[in-house]
Amino acid sequence: MLDDTISQQAAALRRGDYSANELVTAYLTRIVAKNGTLNAYLTVTEQAALDGARAADAALADGSAGPLTGIPIAHKDIFCTDGVRTSCASRMLDNFIAPYDATVVMRLAAAGAVMLGKTNMDEFAMGSSNETSFYGPVRNPWDSQRVPGGSSGGSAAAVAAGLCAAATGTDTGGSIRQPAALTGICGLKPTYGRVSRYGMIAFASSLDQGGPMARSAQDLALLLQAMAGFDPRDSTSIEREVPDYTAALGGSLQGLRIGLPREYFDAGLDPAVGDAVRAGLAELERFGATLVDISLPHTHLSVPAYYVVAPAEASSNLARYDGVRYGYRCDNPADLQDLYQRSRSEGFGAEVKRRILIGTYVLSAGYYDAYYLKAQRVRRLIRNDFLEAFGQVDVIAGPTVPGPAFRLGERNNDPVAMYLSDIYTLAVNLAGLPALSVPCGLVQGLPVGLQLIGRDFDEASLLNVAHRYQQVTDWHLRRPPEA
Ligand code: GLN
Repeated sequence: MLDDTISQQAAALRRGDYSANELVTAYLTRIVAKNGTLNAYLTVTEQAALDGARAADAALADGSAGPLTGIPIAHKDIFCTDGVRTSCASRMLDNFIAPYDATVVMRLAAAGAVMLGKTNMDEFAMGSSNETSFYGPVRNPWDSQRVPGGSSGGSAAAVAAGLCAAATGTDTGGSIRQPAALTGICGLKPTYGRVSRYGMIAFASSLDQGGPMARSAQDLALLLQAMAGFDPRDSTSIEREVPDYTAALGGSLQGLRIGLPREYFDAGLDPAVGDAVRAGLAELERFGATLVDISLPHTHLSVPAYYVVAPAEASSNLARYDGVRYGYRCDNPADLQDLYQRSRSEGFGAEVKRRILIGTYVLSAGYYDAYYLKAQRVRRLIRNDFLEAFGQVDVIAGPTVPGPAFRLGERNNDPVAMYLSDIYTLAVNLAGLPALSVPCGLVQGLPVGLQLIGRDFDEASLLNVAHRYQQVTDWHLRRPPEA
């Protein structure tokens, strides 16, 4: 039952093959067995999960069950959960018990999902390997010497290793898609504004977007259905109808035009990953899709533009952690200045400090125009590249990540090498577009992903293409050897 997709579990629960209590208990048992090695969960909410399972079984019995009733999920520890520690994997919030639920948490609970706990992540979602967590790295279930990707590495490892049916993640520059690719699962970064950011701890507000991580595209559709939609409490959420994502699955791909950006198949791409991606695209051609060569000429500027815009916003967002109102406070401050200084020095890790330094630098008088304003202009050029491409094609496809999972520690002393893991994912966030990663092969026994990028609010097409692909391939059903 733990290897089943959500759709299979939902059907099994309705048939009475097993109860929500049995399902939740089985996951909790597996978490106890596996989490010591993987470090995917930071908090396991066992009692609340068992209570939730009981409520789910009651709903299943009286016919009031929703689409996700009894489905065990985990939330990235960046989503506020009422009464449960919400740490963002930072010492700064190690003692923070959220006083309310994020909208995403509330909506998934309202659809019947049962929360098993909170997953590990890079500190404040800054990272591509899940090694910046205050609580230690997450390990990749496919090879425990390797990273699961980041920053939603705990959610990815938990789904891949069968420690939950699905999980939430957030994606500021690739943090849903990159770890999904490196652990062999599916992850969707919705259009900016599609999913409420209320209660999702802010990293870079104009880029952050929450989304689902699961085994199949069909599961992503079920989860997105519950998560998406206007939220009056998030002024950047969009007032726009949410389509029926499940109903959109199964649409024909005949005549669909898929653009392959030449910049995504360049010298930086591991040739074996390129082969896996091309083999995946050949499957889509068999469904009647046409592959079209395109260019996104400003792609090479996405890493520099992102690493100005994201740190700038982060430095502003993280100014609130001052040791005064909540979060970490240093011992025996001598005066106010000392309180601020030591609370922040001791509460934040090295990568977060690096971002704050970059961010305050690019926003400072004299440098603002040269860096921040320039990066915003580049951001517009990047979005224009996509808009132009979508004049010719319906969907854009390429690799999610240049190579398979790297070894723990391998890129720790080289921030730029680490930043380059996101070379194919960052531009999507700068442009605000939806994108999805779907497993498309194994390279040296490690999973790699095919990325599909869509027009604004066209998550349905991405889910449909991925679903079609999964009907004729089984990469998403492969299980890691250590799980
Ligand atoms: N790896 C990128 C960064 O470190 C993106 C992280 C994310 O999407 N949260 O900023």
